[in-house]
Amino acid sequence: MAVSYDAIVIGTGQAGPTLAARLARSGMKVAVIERKLFGGTCVNTGCIPTKTLVASAYAAHMARRAADYGVTIAGAVSVDMKRVKARKDAVSGKSRTSVEKGLRNLEGCTVYQGQARFISAREVTVGAETLAADKIFINVGGRARIPAIPGLDQVNFLTNSSMMDVDFLPRHLVIVGGSYIGLEFGQMYRRFGSEVTILENGPRLIAHEDEDTSAAVKEILEKEGIQIRLDTTCTGVSKRGEDVAVSLASPAGPSEVTGSHLLLAIGRVPNTGDLGLDKAGVMVDDQGFIGVDDQLRTTVHGIWALGDCNGKGAFTHTSYNDYEIVAANLLDHDPRKVSDRITAYNLYIDPPLGRCGMTKAAVRRAGKRALVGRRPMTRVARAIEKGETEGFMEVLVDAETRQFLGATILGVGGDEVIHTVLDLMYAKAPCTVMQRAVHIHPTVSELLPTILGELKPLT
Ligand SMILES: Cc1cc2nc3c(=O)[nH]c(=O)nc-3n(C[C@H](O)[C@H](O)[C@H](O)COP(=O)(O)OP(=O)(O)OC[C@H]3O[C@@H](n4cnc5c(N)ncnc54)[C@H](O)[C@@H]3O)c2cc1C
Repeated sequence: MAVSYDAIVIGTGQAGPTLAARLARSGMKVAVIERKLFGGTCVNTGCIPTKTLVASAYAAHMARRAADYGVTIAGAVSVDMKRVKARKDAVSGKSRTSVEKGLRNLEGCTVYQGQARFISAREVTVGAETLAADKIFINVGGRARIPAIPGLDQVNFLTNSSMMDVDFLPRHLVIVGGSYIGLEFGQMYRRFGSEVTILENGPRLIAHEDEDTSAAVKEILEKEGIQIRLDTTCTGVSKRGEDVAVSLASPAGPSEVTGSHLLLAIGRVPNTGDLGLDKAGVMVDDQGFIGVDDQLRTTVHGIWALGDCNGKGAFTHTSYNDYEIVAANLLDHDPRKVSDRITAYNLYIDPPLGRCGMTKAAVRRAGKRALVGRRPMTRVARAIEKGETEGFMEVLVDAETRQFLGATILGVGGDEVIHTVLDLMYAKAPCTVMQRAVHIHPTVSELLPTILGELKPLT
């Protein structure tokens, strides 16, 4: 006999728990199923722990630079990796406990722990139990993609998840993948004291960004002593004593790099293969992402998919926004939709890269007439005062409407400053609103109105 609920939420990522709370508070009887760690990727193996580690790495970096600021540190700066990990575990653990407690204490909500599997469009099993509901919400997230590199089954390798257990300093960390996750781990471990090599099979890092952004990020990382090999494909891996040897192919010919540890950071796959979606009739694409419409309804009436598993976003804020969209449509008669969302994200290297809207390449591809404004961080007073002048700020404006098309802020504070542009994009306001605003001195943001006064046609 199935236990009946009004709603079942599968997965406690960035959308599920808040949605469960809204549904329960609206009077529904709700079941939540989690197979592993409450809070999912962001809380346990993604944003929160990595940004906590980035903070430790920044502290080490600034300690080494102390003399630049007239500060003397007696002796060499050293990093205690056990304490770095303990700090990370404490921050992440607090968040996980809070998600779990919140759900267990939620009136009208029953928590199940185990693997959820559909057996029909209305029924899901977890352990020995069968649950049934007219409304089912899938928030199962994703995991690291493991590529088919010959020899991988013979060596130990790390992913973003197993990196969370590292409480020692890898002598030489070889990272496969020159995108967001690989770069964040790369810079942080270099700052902890590891030798770091990043292998990227494309011609540049972070290929979704403009070429000059990729080049600036590469320069920043190389200045810190990170080895970056572009146009380089891993053709095999093997054990070399305690080390891992990685065979490489590049236009220059075959070569090899040997490291003490190997981290795979070449993208994510959705956790949809073991969910029994075929039993429910829910369609997935050829990469396993669940097909959804603009309001996150799957191909089966009464089943929604939220977060990374629907392929519409790959971030905590996009998953949370999925919750907002579903809740607004179901409970508030507010027809919010995914296509209203503006692309925005940060890359948390130091200095951070804040991004919103279109890149220059995307504007050119779209054939839009646009204006561009740019300023190096060496000409930003706040950056000079802080002694952190790497990077640049760039804004793109529609030549006809004068609305912002996008922005790239690679520089100190860029992860926060980007929101000044993002909010005006949501407001569909002309850039003159910002140009005439009096920003506070001295800040990084104060230069944005100045940049807007110096716009030039994008060629
Ligand atoms: C290293 C790293 C750093 C990141 N940094 C950032 C960042 O700085 N900013 C940002 O916005 N994003 C970042 N992300 C991405 C972000 O973590 C994800 O986009 C976010 O967690 C969205 O998750 P979600 O809601 O889709 O599900 P997830 O958080 O992935 O959670 C899914 C949950 O479902 C559970 N589950 C899966 N299958 C089942 C099943 N069959 N039955 C029961 N439970 C199941 C899982 O155990 C998991 O708890 C990062 C990711 C990584 C890997």
